[in-house]
Amino acid sequence: MRAIDVHVHPSTRGLDTHACNYFRRDLSEVPQTADGFADAYLQHDVTALLIGWHPSTVTEGAHNSNEHAMELVTNYPKAFCGVLASLDIHSTDLPGVARYAEELVRNPKVVGFKFHPPDQRFYPSDKRFYDIWEVLQAGGKPAMFHIGFTVLGANTPGGSGIGLDYGRPIHLDTVAKDFPGMKILAAHPGWPWVEETVGVVTHKKNVHVDTSGYLAEQLPELFQKAIGTRLQDKALFGTDFPYVDLAKALVSFDRMNFKDTVKEKLLLANARNLFGLPAE
Ligand SMILES: [Zn+2]
Repeated sequence: MRAIDVHVHPSTRGLDTHACNYFRRDLSEVPQTADGFADAYLQHDVTALLIGWHPSTVTEGAHNSNEHAMELVTNYPKAFCGVLASLDIHSTDLPGVARYAEELVRNPKVVGFKFHPPDQRFYPSDKRFYDIWEVLQAGGKPAMFHIGFTVLGANTPGGSGIGLDYGRPIHLDTVAKDFPGMKILAAHPGWPWVEETVGVVTHKKNVHVDTSGYLAEQLPELFQKAIGTRLQDKALFGTDFPYVDLAKALVSFDRMNFKDTVKEKLLLANARNLFGLPAE
């Protein structure tokens, strides 16, 4: 296997056309059928973790969901090796959400969770959610949190109500401190707080980071340096497909002058270790 892509949005549902515009992604290149989506991964010998969360900015068409992502994993087990499940953080019944999380933790298709604090408008360090983090910590399945800039709402008046502050890496530092057994995966380098990201991931053993949203050469220089050296065991390859193209992302990592041993960790080993995925 060439790589594990830990950050993939099903292109079959909930496609954000503003995000496609931002990334200058030609919609005709984005596979919208399940077969086409799976092929995009199979042809590169890459397996993906599928995100169940649906962006609030996409109001038309069928919603992405945990169930939809699980169905794709069931139907295309070689292309897709697990689901990062979403939770309704705004439910008035948070104990009910914690029970649902417990159920998901026991589901073998669910390998972790995904949250988008700016779009879901919450602070990860808000104590109202601590009972849920308790469940995730006990279950041992990693939780991915979007950090930094988001294309959702970008260049619209008031950012369409989306606040970047929710995505500050330092909020994950607080969660990691209060839940030292919780496995946390920060998604993206966290620009404009890249230094903060590198600091948090360096300081907290239970915080990891993915490379998604960028081709390798576009990653902020400080971040590039860190993942090639002291964070080489804590950084995981991710694309943010369909917004970033898988083929281009793979080529971009091949071109970087990381040592081969480092490349292998970034593309495969670190994801296997964090998510407990079997080697082939
Ligand atoms: Zn994403």
